[in-house]
Amino acid sequence: MTTPTRDLPLLLLGSGADPASERGVDCPGELPPASDPALVERARAAKAALGDKVFVLGHHYQRDEVIQFADVTGDSFKLARKAAARPEAPYVVFCGVHFMAESADILTAPHQQVILPDLAAGCSMADMATFDQVEECWEVLEDAGVADDVVPVTYMNSSADIKAFVGRHGGVVCTSSNAKRALEWAYAKGSKVLFLPDQHLGRNTAVLQMGFSLDDCVVYSPHRREGGLTPRQLQDAKMILWRGHCSVHGRFTRESVDEVRERVPGVNVLVHPECRHEVVTAADRIGSTEYIIKTIEAAEPGSAWAVGTELNLVRRLANAHPDKNVMFLDKTVCYCSTMNRIDLPHLVLSLESLARGEVENVISVDEETAHYARVALDQMLALP
Ligand code: SF4
Repeated sequence: MTTPTRDLPLLLLGSGADPASERGVDCPGELPPASDPALVERARAAKAALGDKVFVLGHHYQRDEVIQFADVTGDSFKLARKAAARPEAPYVVFCGVHFMAESADILTAPHQQVILPDLAAGCSMADMATFDQVEECWEVLEDAGVADDVVPVTYMNSSADIKAFVGRHGGVVCTSSNAKRALEWAYAKGSKVLFLPDQHLGRNTAVLQMGFSLDDCVVYSPHRREGGLTPRQLQDAKMILWRGHCSVHGRFTRESVDEVRERVPGVNVLVHPECRHEVVTAADRIGSTEYIIKTIEAAEPGSAWAVGTELNLVRRLANAHPDKNVMFLDKTVCYCSTMNRIDLPHLVLSLESLARGEVENVISVDEETAHYARVALDQMLALP
């Protein structure tokens, strides 16, 4: 029997000081002050000097001040594929978070270097499933006699280590757009799925799109002995959900849906499947970031939309569609703090360093990890 006892990736608030926890915050070189009025001009000049040597990717949740310099915008998987399709650019500046830059490094050519403007731009959801924790979970599944029946599926929002674990164990990566197809593929191979690291996407897909009941799902908690589950619970479950969530989408509540419906008659509630089950079941439409963008683009003028996803994107959608009433679903949910770490000063620092021939903040995945992560990513691309 195994006992999961791993350290939390971050200290709990008020529980002490860990000088190493702020690793990556120190930027090599001098970070320009945010008040520098020449920042936009400096970014433009450095990018122009680099020309085709640099390809700037901007995730949908990035700030406007950064997005204006993106050569392409999109979700994490689209961006990684776009970078792979531009091998003539030796430098890929990824304005997003760490796991996205890792995926870009895995999918791009060996001569391309992927740069994350601030190494502290992580993802709290990805950090909720570490390699050691997932290895321990697998041992728990073995002890319960179910590991041979389990196909692991990981959301794109996971570290390269976790994607590689899934690749080694015959599983697949999924996005919020193809989670149903990934699960159908997995259940054709085994009778159970271990879904990492977002319990909400896993539960919402299993229950709303695969016809499972909530009782078919159990939640494995990496901070509890044996995941907090008995062997019997693991044997009976069809869906083993990892206890992870997005710190932004997980904060929307059923009350916020009820409140906006009362305040704005006729409003359409449109949410991301990383939201909690009680939120998506109260919404009118559910879908990935790309689906949300397309839905607002296609909406009737004059229609009202309360959108439950990252605030930078909702504000951009509202500004781009002044003929529609696009609003944020909740008054208290804030920006993704790690996405927001990439700001104009960090982008200027990265571009100016590259223009001087200095390559800093490179995200590089080791060969073996990249190989197995690619196995799981390729399996996703091969989904019917
Ligand atoms: S929005 Fe959520 S899933 Fe995306 S980077 Fe932020 S914490 Fe991670």
